[in-house]
Amino acid sequence: MDVRAFGKGFEEFYDLVRSEGIIYRRGNPSEIIRRNGRVVVRAEDTLLNKLVEVEADQVVLAVGMLPHPEAKRIAQLLKLSRSEDNFFMEAHPKLRPVETATAGVFLAGCCQGPKDIAESLTHARAAASSALILLINGQVQVEAATATIDRDLCAGCGQCAAVCPYGALTLHLVHNIMTVNPVLCRGCGSCAAACPSGTINVHHFTFDQFMAQIEALSTGFWLPTKIPKIEMVAT
Ligand code: SF4
Ligand code: SF4
Repeated sequence: MDVRAFGKGFEEFYDLVRSEGIIYRRGNPSEIIRRNGRVVVRAEDTLLNKLVEVEADQVVLAVGMLPHPEAKRIAQLLKLSRSEDNFFMEAHPKLRPVETATAGVFLAGCCQGPKDIAESLTHARAAASSALILLINGQVQVEAATATIDRDLCAGCGQCAAVCPYGALTLHLVHNIMTVNPVLCRGCGSCAAACPSGTINVHHFTFDQFMAQIEALSTGFWLPTKIPKIEMVAT
């Protein structure tokens, strides 16, 4: 319907191809039929406000881009989040555009959303640089606040693993007890909230510490003991 030449040099390119004989027609295509061995596109020309037919040797449709059919399996394998349109989701659209919620997994190109070649290249270079930073450092800092599980209380129900966004929990097949991988754990606390038996604590954020904080808030313990009195004086 409308040409939006938004990128650098796109408007000039649009002008160039028009000057070389390419015709743009503003309208709504409705149907493609075959007639006498040729392809005919039926459309409404919205500038002329009339129906038109254009004969062509070949019609190329600009269709919407979809994620790869394997994306779902890879997302399950690597514990990646997906957006509403099923592309892989970045950790933050502005601050962490190539990182995922899973540490060490980076996104590049159209797996994250439709992109042109220039955008894909930029994205890929950013992803490669982010991965290189980890490799050059040779060390990874892990979270200090990771989950711990009381082995005596764990029933092996698996509810915690179902909510862990980082794939840090694995059920021990022999002992039927959940185990935490402290390198993968990011200390988000989702598992602690999901565990029906209160078996999980996060280092430095234990239930007792939380309760103490809530109690302090509810009793106003943290407030200044003397709140300055404000007097309104009419003049
Ligand atoms: S604290 Fe978060 S990241 Fe760590 S095991 Fe629990 S749900 Fe997973
Ligand atoms: S939710 Fe609690 S009881 Fe169930 S497996 Fe996880 S830690 Fe064990």
